[in-house]
Amino acid sequence: MSDQVQTPPAPASAPDETRDVLLSLRNVKKYFPIKQEFLESLFNEPQYVRAVDDVSFDIYRGEVFGLAGESGSGKTTTGRLAIRLLEPTAGQIIFDGADISHLPERQLRKLRRRMQPIFQDPFASMNPRMTIGQGVAHGLKIHKLTRNAAETRQRVMEMLARVGLNPPETFYGRYPHQISGGQRQRVVIARALVLGPELIMADEPIAMADVSVRAVLLDLMKELQEELNLTYLFITHDLATAKYICDRIAIMYLGQIVEVGDIRSIYREPRHPYTEALLAAVPVPDPRHRRNKPMPRGEIPNPINPPSGCRFHPRCPIAKPICSESAPTLQPVSGDPSHWAACHLRTGDYQDLDR
Ligand code: SF4
Repeated sequence: MSDQVQTPPAPASAPDETRDVLLSLRNVKKYFPIKQEFLESLFNEPQYVRAVDDVSFDIYRGEVFGLAGESGSGKTTTGRLAIRLLEPTAGQIIFDGADISHLPERQLRKLRRRMQPIFQDPFASMNPRMTIGQGVAHGLKIHKLTRNAAETRQRVMEMLARVGLNPPETFYGRYPHQISGGQRQRVVIARALVLGPELIMADEPIAMADVSVRAVLLDLMKELQEELNLTYLFITHDLATAKYICDRIAIMYLGQIVEVGDIRSIYREPRHPYTEALLAAVPVPDPRHRRNKPMPRGEIPNPINPPSGCRFHPRCPIAKPICSESAPTLQPVSGDPSHWAACHLRTGDYQDLDR
């Protein structure tokens, strides 16, 4: 791993110097080249999907940091970059003080134990030919974390019991297709946690579970996070889920962060029109508390040619001419130093245009 590096303050929010930063992204970009036919490539400039385009944030040790946005916002790609399942096109990824942006795979392997993913579809991330016990034990063997088979089995049993698969002996020898979807997601959580990671990148971890077990899984993840002092990067399209589990959240739109801050502050006083629209879509049981904000018009634009200026301007209900001309940057928006938004009309010199 490379030497420890000094990280400059994240432009996406004011850093809290009293807290220990576990993961930082600095101006991270990920562009995917578009494949062109040979003849096309002779006459056209190369084209790229700008999936992540200049994203910066810090995640403090022991917190749950959310990334939210619609499908196509770049949140999943950002999550994969954060734990180096993808290599960035530009920018820096700093984990526990070390720059891991371009670490070769051999060195990354040592780090994988400390940064574990949990994906949306547990079935797809399990080997159907391995029993539950073998699957959970696999990482322990790869990383040589136990001394013998008996210790491995013991650790697996303890972890299965800890995630609520009781009694663990009845699950140990079963195959993934022999258990329910909710139980499979518990296995995936056990498989990640048995390695003793510090950071979990959870990408829509409850989205494919039955509605009846989603709250239980979320409670389990929350309990484990507190008990083991884990740090989560929690990716979701659902702000109600985010409110339940996250301490802070970043809202992404078309590859960029448009608002970031304490989850309570963002819920109480969203400043970006896109965040307002996402919150308006959250079902609220009490009609007296329904939010009356318009939903964004149309679809998320094409990330190959994002709109000029503010990328949200074609869908923004309050856009002004300035919005298509110049790109807003993240600015502090309220008394809460953690709360920043990128909107000409809600921050800086143009605030009066919003009236
Ligand atoms: Fe809407 Fe303009 Fe603010 Fe963008 S900068 S969110 S277009 S008001």
